[in-house]
Amino acid sequence: MNTSELLAAVKARNPNEPEFLQAAEEVILSIAPVIDKNPDFARFRILERMLEPERMISFRVTWLDDKGNVQVNRGYRVQMNSAIGPYKGGLRFHPSVTPSVLKFLAFEQVFKNALTGIPMGGGKGGSDFDPKGKSDNEVMKFCQAFMGELYRHIGHRLDVPAGDIGVGGREVGYMFGAYKKLQNEFTGVLTGKGIGWGGSLIRTEATGYGLIYFAENMLQTKNDSLKGKVCLVSGSGNVAQYAIEKIIHLGGKAVTASDSTGYIYDEEGFTKEKLEFLKDLKNNKRGRIKEYVEKFKSATYKDIDGKADSNPLWSHKADCAFPCATQNEVNEKDAKHLVKNGLKLLAEGANMPTTIEGINVLIDAGVMYAPGKASNAGGVATSGLEMTQNYMGTNWSAEEVDAKLKHIMKNIHDTSLAAANEYGKAGNYMVGANIAGFLKVAKAMVAQGVI
Ligand code: NDP
Repeated sequence: MNTSELLAAVKARNPNEPEFLQAAEEVILSIAPVIDKNPDFARFRILERMLEPERMISFRVTWLDDKGNVQVNRGYRVQMNSAIGPYKGGLRFHPSVTPSVLKFLAFEQVFKNALTGIPMGGGKGGSDFDPKGKSDNEVMKFCQAFMGELYRHIGHRLDVPAGDIGVGGREVGYMFGAYKKLQNEFTGVLTGKGIGWGGSLIRTEATGYGLIYFAENMLQTKNDSLKGKVCLVSGSGNVAQYAIEKIIHLGGKAVTASDSTGYIYDEEGFTKEKLEFLKDLKNNKRGRIKEYVEKFKSATYKDIDGKADSNPLWSHKADCAFPCATQNEVNEKDAKHLVKNGLKLLAEGANMPTTIEGINVLIDAGVMYAPGKASNAGGVATSGLEMTQNYMGTNWSAEEVDAKLKHIMKNIHDTSLAAANEYGKAGNYMVGANIAGFLKVAKAMVAQGVI
């Protein structure tokens, strides 16, 4: 089957799954030359097998809200590929969660996890439950009901979920408690756990920090650095907060942050004090980004209309852009605005935040572009380090974990560049990351036979 036949077959097999098809298309086009060079991959139909989840679980989640009403949600776990290790990937709680979204995330996760060099397969899960506006008690009830089914399908050597959008320390805690009670055992079945009950230092910071380490590695190839660079960041959750923190550490200036209703632009840039306010607003008060401008007069706020044809956040002048909210938040028009304003680098903190058309605009204009599966892999890599510490029954210091994270991000950077070079696409991190991740998993699948 050639590339266009394979694309057509995948489309026919997965109708109504636009996000999954988008992720699949990007990979299929990138790795066509690798398949041509390795007849075994075609003979064993490796790519076709990678595009099919090994197992996909869908279940009902029923729980009682604070008023005593019965609520019904859908829960899922996509166990995509276990060729190189136990399934690993986050859980997302958001009303936009569908099988297509989770399949795209699980598919990307397979490549990302392979790039980290830690033996982890790929998976993803979640629910259409919306934690926004729910009481702590309701979130706990939901998490317990969700784990009431999921616990049968996961395990510390089988499938180890973590957080993602809508799932942070609070939700991981409730789910871990429920799992422990149901299974009557204390194991590292989830990552992102609290420090003091199996969590790893730096896990909370890891995705955002790792993203900025990756960007610094990219700039270093041009003898440049983040110092003095104006940076646009979207999102205001876990990834965005720690990306902003590391930009400040490295002397850059982060001027934006957003949530699903709007964004703030602070010309003077985030300081440590402003970032602490944002963390408290989002993590403890569970407030809206709008409230930032009431406190800091240097900033302005604008609504974002999710249905508009462009996002005004990306129309500001900047050297670097770090989309850290959600999928498809940078489209072709946004990319053109960024390029017109002289953007040098875009590295993805979120998963698939840039559309295929947007990526093409960036690459054609010579902007350095890093795909999420490489640049946001620091989160899962540190989850891998959390698993290792759990297996060993030990705790590493923050400095040790941070040093390992930096080392892993540098390796992913160098491996992606080397693979791109080898296949005649020098400087193309997207093609390089896809090829390097694919090769690792594909070789394992060939070695393990037709299963
Ligand atoms: P959080 O839930 O902590 O934060 C998500 C942020 O994005 C919030 O500001 C949220 O706004 C905003 N957002 C969510 N959905 C939308 C939407 N449909 N439109 C606009 N804004 C939206 O999640 P994370 O920071 O953990 O995750 C952000 C991204 O990073 C996701 O793509 C995730 O898959 C990816 N990622 C996360 C990792 C991790 O370790 N956490 C690891 C690797 C990737 P609001 O407050 O209004 O909901």
